[in-house]
Amino acid sequence: MTLSEQLFERAQQTIPGGVNSPVRAFKSVGGTPVFIDRADGAYIYDVDGKQYIDYIGSWGPMLLGHNHPAIREAVIKAAEKGLSFGAPCPAEIEMAELVTKLVPSMEMVRMVSSGTEATMSAIRLARGYTGRDTIVKFEGCYHGHADSLLVKAGSGALTLGVPNSPGVPADFAKYTLTCEFNNLPQLAELFAEKGADIACVIVEPVAGNMNCIPPNPGYLQGLRSLCDQYGAVLIFDEVMTGFRVALGGAQAYYGVKPDLTTLGKIIGGGMPVGAFGGKKAIMQHIAPLGPVYQAGTLSGNPIAMAAGLAALTEISKPGVYESLTAKTTQLLQGLTAAAAKHGVPLCVNQVGGMFGLFFTTASSVSSYAQATQCNIEAFKKFFHLMLADGIYLAPSAYEAGFLSLAHSEADLAATIAAADRAFAQL
Ligand code: PMP
Repeated sequence: MTLSEQLFERAQQTIPGGVNSPVRAFKSVGGTPVFIDRADGAYIYDVDGKQYIDYIGSWGPMLLGHNHPAIREAVIKAAEKGLSFGAPCPAEIEMAELVTKLVPSMEMVRMVSSGTEATMSAIRLARGYTGRDTIVKFEGCYHGHADSLLVKAGSGALTLGVPNSPGVPADFAKYTLTCEFNNLPQLAELFAEKGADIACVIVEPVAGNMNCIPPNPGYLQGLRSLCDQYGAVLIFDEVMTGFRVALGGAQAYYGVKPDLTTLGKIIGGGMPVGAFGGKKAIMQHIAPLGPVYQAGTLSGNPIAMAAGLAALTEISKPGVYESLTAKTTQLLQGLTAAAAKHGVPLCVNQVGGMFGLFFTTASSVSSYAQATQCNIEAFKKFFHLMLADGIYLAPSAYEAGFLSLAHSEADLAATIAAADRAFAQL
């Protein structure tokens, strides 16, 4: 028995499913999750001492690679001054100033401690601001686990086949309307019918929780126009895409300005951080300025702010996104060629440092229906062959993959060589 297997057995005695977040349990791919001892650069090391090239990157935050010295040192320095104050500190202003500079549609920003808190709070604000109750989300998009958002959700909810969770009262869920991602006529119809009741539309501008699906050309612009026409708040959930697809997020990449934006992951450099922000006229409705209540004991935590500031400072340096994008393209070209060599049908999607692999004969994947029709059995086999060969991919066919700046030419070559061996066995 490996140490990971022993730990998994032990964990299941006291932690539901042995994990603190469902996708980690390997339920959809089978087998035992590897328990991690440490991580550095492009690599993670399990408790049995095995090294893996990591394409999860803590589900996105590790854009600079694991254990980056600038972030580590900032955290140590901040920790020497105390762990939490529950009172304002200067790092919070620095963070707000940096975020509003890098993402100009965010004229004001409030820090929270997770992506879930960010989206939940943004939705409450949109409802409070518009005086309307109904929200619109898209099938397969995941925005964290707040009640209103666990309707036809992606990520673990999709992986485990429970997109509508028990425990969410039907009376709440009825205020969440869903549409197909990348289907603008369907949303236009919904607005025509219910536009006066719709407080907001929330979208992952690049869907990353049903694998990786970019918006069709003009789609985000279409969302903007419909929200303008009906007076609804447009929320870009950039928890995943923020600082991942471009320095200013997907809104900079596609040139569309939302009213509110949510951030997480990279903005905390690995610490538990989220943020929501947007137009001043809307943000001024948040307490204590306005009547919409939102708060947090650990919000703006000094250690988390130090980590986030260090991460954002590093990724603001010239050439970061060119390098990240080029590495990702190189990886996908190699994987595509290796799959073709062995006659394995594979389609890939990429936006900046974010990618998706689809086992399908389709030449492109742009919808939830297409993503869920891919060959899941082929993915599972590929996942386990890669894991055995020291490549750590997300243990689900419905998650995006992430590269970091620490991934070297040699790492990419080793990954492509491992995939070549895996494809030969599919
Ligand atoms: N929004 C998106 C787009 C996400 O990908 C996630 C998490 N993967 C969340 C929200 C929720 O963030 P958290 O897990 O930090 O609550």
